[in-house]
Amino acid sequence: MKIRDILGQGRPTISFEVFPPKTAENYEAVKEAALEIAALKPAFMSVTYGAGGGTSRYTVDIASALQEQGKVTPLAHLTCVSSTREKVHQVLGELKERGIENVLALRGDIPADGRVEHDYRYASELIREIKEAGDFCVGAACYPEGHVESVNKADDIKHLKEKVEAGCDFVTTQMFFDNNILYNFLYRVREEGIRVPVVAGIMPVTSKSQTRRIGLMSGTELPVRFKALVDRFGDDPAAMKQAGIVYATEQIIDLIANGVNAIHVYTMNKPEVAAKIRADLSEIVR
Ligand code: FAD
Repeated sequence: MKIRDILGQGRPTISFEVFPPKTAENYEAVKEAALEIAALKPAFMSVTYGAGGGTSRYTVDIASALQEQGKVTPLAHLTCVSSTREKVHQVLGELKERGIENVLALRGDIPADGRVEHDYRYASELIREIKEAGDFCVGAACYPEGHVESVNKADDIKHLKEKVEAGCDFVTTQMFFDNNILYNFLYRVREEGIRVPVVAGIMPVTSKSQTRRIGLMSGTELPVRFKALVDRFGDDPAAMKQAGIVYATEQIIDLIANGVNAIHVYTMNKPEVAAKIRADLSEIVR
């Protein structure tokens, strides 16, 4: 099924993200975790794409297992800046062959050594090409706090519009920990004339080390209320996990109460985290 049709139903949905293994050794464990999460019957599940594309096979294989064994609609991520056009089309061919209809089209991060391929510069170019390559439903990334490389938020939203004009059917946000940031972003996006569904990306933070990585990697603002929780529970892993899950669940409830229907949870391949959130929303997302 196409994700735009799922989102178009206009009711609250919850979907989950998993990441593929880096090595063949971990493949079965990741697949098992992904299928456990699929058993929670999310609206769809996304599978990320390893930077550089060296593990693209696992993205396709996990997405395919979710569809065939998990009976869940998969969304395969695909990045382009470190890929040749040939590689991109090879992966698209594999997705088509497996009957995977949904792709999240990304530029990918610029590697630390700055070495990239030169077939693509921006995700908008990839989106256009995927749309031409077949009957795919295409999503893209967006950044409520602005992408780290962008000069300002207005510029970033202008480039987001280019992705929509290139044909993307929906956009998924980078994680955020203050819903007001999302509400403000949604206002600006709609003012810019972007009408596609915006899927809110929520990260349940379950350990202190994760907090540090988030700050470094994504430029995401951590609100005082969230920092207090890390200060109080950060050194008690079980308490931190519980508090992080409750924080994420409260964020989701507030979003749905304010009309943001599409929720995507970054599960970090943890079925128990996905299951707890799903259970605590059982009457809210049916
Ligand atoms: P783009 O949309 O191309 O934007 C990149 C930068 O270029 C932005 O600053 C934008 O404002 C600017 N820009 C765009 N067009 C132009 C233009 N015409 N002129 C000038 N500037 C322009 N990474 C992975 O490696 N694998 C994944 O699976 C993955 N999944 C993700 C899922 C989500 C929901 C999100 C939010 C991010 C994900 N990422 C993933 C990270 C993503 O690859 C990085 O954030 C990357 O740096 C930007 O990708 P993009 O597709 O948003 O790029």
